[in-house]
Amino acid sequence: MESIDRMIYLDNNATTPLDPGVAEKMAWVLKEHFGNPSSIYPIGRDAKQMVTEAREIVAEALGASRSEIFFTGSGTESDNWAIRGVMRRRRDRPEFITSAVEHPAVSETAAYLERQGHTVHYIPVDRKGTLDLDFLKKTVSPRTALISVMFANNELGTIQPIEDVVAIARPHDILVHTDAVQAFGKLPFSVDKLGVDLLSVSAHKIYGPKGIGALYIRRGVEIDPLIYGGHQEQQLRPGTENTAGIVGFGEAVRIMRESFDKDKKRIEKLADRLKNGIEERIPKAVLNGPEKNRVKSTLNFSFYGLEAEALLLALATKDIYVSTGSACSEESEDVSHVLNAIGLQPEVARSTLRISLGRFTTEQDIDRVLEELPEIVRRLREISAIEI
Ligand code: PLP
Repeated sequence: MESIDRMIYLDNNATTPLDPGVAEKMAWVLKEHFGNPSSIYPIGRDAKQMVTEAREIVAEALGASRSEIFFTGSGTESDNWAIRGVMRRRRDRPEFITSAVEHPAVSETAAYLERQGHTVHYIPVDRKGTLDLDFLKKTVSPRTALISVMFANNELGTIQPIEDVVAIARPHDILVHTDAVQAFGKLPFSVDKLGVDLLSVSAHKIYGPKGIGALYIRRGVEIDPLIYGGHQEQQLRPGTENTAGIVGFGEAVRIMRESFDKDKKRIEKLADRLKNGIEERIPKAVLNGPEKNRVKSTLNFSFYGLEAEALLLALATKDIYVSTGSACSEESEDVSHVLNAIGLQPEVARSTLRISLGRFTTEQDIDRVLEELPEIVRRLREISAIEI
């Protein structure tokens, strides 16, 4: 296996390494606490208590109460549930509004709704990836059930004006969901300050395990379940709880909250250094996304005149791991719909690399990237004989 010491992992928006503290706690649960949280004898009650504590931690981090947090199998499931669950419930309001730059967990759910006969409106974005709120104002109507807009974009880092979206929705009694999978752990926020009705998070983006997410559902919001079964998660998301995953999620959130300010400051400083270093050393390297209102640990650069996939593979031979877009579009032939939505020409989009830093990124990692990247870019541009 690749030694974690040698590797420079700069794809933290795709997933993050498990925090050692989380791994330890999960191993303990897996080995010693196999009880079913629904069983009423002691090992069941212990497991239930652990799930309750984790729920409390997640709730507190979001500024929610425990009964408003529902564990799911992923951020994708949380997004699907929020959207399909609300659209099914509010049958008198058949329209759904989302943005042109959502993660496939939302955009493919929107496509599904269209196939089911719903009308879906897609809010366009400007060249920085920020929502066109005027479009939204003109589009909302008594026919709209729900607006779903992501908080921080996974490819560009663009932070959307969620509070403004809520202000537009409220007078029309429209519910608002936000996919906060890329914002959680990177931006300080609370569900009340944002004013949203539903919010999705996922553990593996915050140094927790894969395959566990949560959906915040504001008290009083009515939603249909996606699956049917037992009484778990208030009977809205049945199935025996993934105890180790839930406990791991809770521990990841606990650690995240403890180290939030320190991590954020350190990561942002490193990201600034990397950004400035790239701009100084590489001609025609253009940062996509806004300068402000961006999750700073996400750096999305177009390196005109080369294929980003070749760049990614060349960096991988140096044990430097980055991405050409969202984790889910990696295998697709098409250019990213996000880069398309901000108006990048296909050949520019194809020269675009996403570098995302995280808690375990070091000063030495940044030095190495600044050492290797300019030379690789120069070589690849030479091969494609592009004049820069
Ligand atoms: N939403 C956003 C913005 C994401 O970046 C991701 C993961 O890439 C997801 C949703 C999906 O989360 P999960 O991998 O837990 O299904």
